[in-house]
Amino acid sequence: MVFTPDTDVTLRHAAALANTGPALGEERREELPDLAALLAWMDRWEWTGRRPTSEAEVDAVRRLRPRLREIWALDEDGKVEAANALLEQGRALPRLVRHGDVGWHVHATRDDAPLAQRISVEVGMALVDVIRADETERLKVCAGEDCEDLLVDLSKNRSRKFCDGTCGTRANVAAYRARKSRDTATG
Ligand SMILES: [Zn+2]
Ligand SMILES: [Zn+2]
Repeated sequence: MVFTPDTDVTLRHAAALANTGPALGEERREELPDLAALLAWMDRWEWTGRRPTSEAEVDAVRRLRPRLREIWALDEDGKVEAANALLEQGRALPRLVRHGDVGWHVHATRDDAPLAQRISVEVGMALVDVIRADETERLKVCAGEDCEDLLVDLSKNRSRKFCDGTCGTRANVAAYRARKSRDTATG
């Protein structure tokens, strides 16, 4: 394991959240179209605490996505600044908690704070871990053609290049075909 389990989840959640919206220059992608979609999203990621009740809150969560893309693209100094800003703006106040079958971990906002604020502060806290461990290079953008999805490389040798989508499979198929046609050409 590279980070603690809560940091792992927070980073993967942040990447997945950014990927529910359109990338720069992409026409449209909206996987969080309404409140129902956001509530389903919360269940999928096992969010506890207060649940959003208004479209305004959905909008606030959607607005985090370009910010996350920005953060992923920043260099280390930029990420440091972003982490500090997220923690300050979200008025982070870390405390240890445990709930359900999740062991001791940190919450740094009140459980009844708006979801967008809780997400920002969680990302800020996770960035602290990433930066302290000198692992900022693990926050990557998919190397797939025409794919700008964010990903978190949690592999042992930091070798992951492609998102969870079809890009990895497609790259494998392309490599296989290239190898095969080379073999045919020489053989
Ligand atoms: Zn928790
Ligand atoms: Zn991809």
